[in-house]
Amino acid sequence: MRYCKNCIIPDTKPGINLDKNGLCNACRNVNIKDKIDWSERKRDLSKIINKIKNENKEGAYDCIVPISSGGKDSWFQAYTMSKVFKCKVLCVNMVAHLPTSEGIHNINAMIKDLNVDIIKLTLKPSVHSKLRKNSFIKMGEPNWAEHCMVFAGVYNAAKIYNIPLIVWGEDISFEFGGLSKKQTSDASNLLHSNDLIKDKDVHDLADKSIDRGDLFFYKFPPMKEIRSTSIKSIYLGYFVNWNGESNYKFVKKRGFKGEQNKRSGHLVDYDNIDEKLCDINGWMKYLKFGFWYPTDELCYEIYNKRMKREEAAKLIRKLTEEFPSEFFSDFLNFHKITEDEFFDVANKFINKKIFKPNKNWWRLKYWP
Ligand SMILES: [Zn+2]
Repeated sequence: MRYCKNCIIPDTKPGINLDKNGLCNACRNVNIKDKIDWSERKRDLSKIINKIKNENKEGAYDCIVPISSGGKDSWFQAYTMSKVFKCKVLCVNMVAHLPTSEGIHNINAMIKDLNVDIIKLTLKPSVHSKLRKNSFIKMGEPNWAEHCMVFAGVYNAAKIYNIPLIVWGEDISFEFGGLSKKQTSDASNLLHSNDLIKDKDVHDLADKSIDRGDLFFYKFPPMKEIRSTSIKSIYLGYFVNWNGESNYKFVKKRGFKGEQNKRSGHLVDYDNIDEKLCDINGWMKYLKFGFWYPTDELCYEIYNKRMKREEAAKLIRKLTEEFPSEFFSDFLNFHKITEDEFFDVANKFINKKIFKPNKNWWRLKYWP
């Protein structure tokens, strides 16, 4: 396990490769972003939108903006598309089953602020809980089912309502270093082989107790169909200079609330605060790869020149070893598992190459 010399990302992260100078893909991309002509990119997006507006029938929606259940970035996306680019926007929210009070406040405040149409889709809790539980047991990644629900659900909504454009936020592979190496505007791979979906299909996790008819919104169309359809998927982060912290500052002035109580394993108070199940999912990454949210958040500070590597390296160990206990009982109850069952599964995913046993549990062997 080696760490990037500029940030503190480890090479255990899938898709990360350190170059001969010891720099990771994300750090190499930071410099690429500085050289981009953002006004040209903005004109490119205007061209795409003008074409849609010219072809659209009167009164039709120009684009879908997928909305998380009250996140800062989706607020910024919906603002940009509806107010800056003057699109007729339909927001689509695949509803989180356990929203936080901050999430509930923020999605309501966003709708009031932007005055846009929104469709909220809540999928059967019993099926969602089972799919999540199966993803947890088989892959050590409960949120895999969530990602299917969001990416396939939004695409299916675009199909049903015949809307030609889906505007996603940032390309996480590009921003945080991952499987895709080049920045691209085309987000159609989100539906198949991206970092979050990894070429699996929801049927791989649906056991016999789940009615196939209950999987409609989780199912991706074949890649051939996605490529040939007139529905276009793009990343807004390709066209405007995307920055999580400035998005936060921007929406804060419009009514967004950061977290009310400090959560374990987080440096910032505005990321992933809208629902209760994602922290345990993030923590599972720690067992497999030796890092989770603290590394992502500290690296983001480094990329944006708000923190030096030495300072991040000092903070990382304490934050990484904090267990996200705040919503742990919600996680257990939602998936109907006991604490012992949880750790029986979790312990199977501990990567023995990078962890060593210690008196209480296991400890990571390498730190930046
Ligand atoms: Zn780096």
